[in-house]
Amino acid sequence: MLELRPNCELCDRDLPPDSADARICTYECTFCASCVESVLHDVCPNCGGGFQPRPIRPRSAWREATGLAHDPPGSERRHTRHTSSEIDAFVASLRDVSPAER
Ligand SMILES: [Zn+2]
Ligand SMILES: [Zn+2]
Repeated sequence: MLELRPNCELCDRDLPPDSADARICTYECTFCASCVESVLHDVCPNCGGGFQPRPIRPRSAWREATGLAHDPPGSERRHTRHTSSEIDAFVASLRDVSPAER
């Protein structure tokens, strides 16, 4: 099940489960839309993959054993272990390659 992580790994802003600004890679690395667009240029600094909007988990249990009350968001705040200059160099090397070709 997708882990709904609570913050952007780069700027640390809160990304609650209903946020339309959360972006994730296939490893669930989580960043805000602003960082993805202006800093990361659709390159995950942890794995090199592209991003997609994170789906919003329903608040209500529309089906048995589903929804936020049954499957609450994660609470562990994460921060990328890469420095800003490392990220800039990594992004520069991959941003012009489409995610499907990386
Ligand atoms: Zn951010
Ligand atoms: Zn990633």
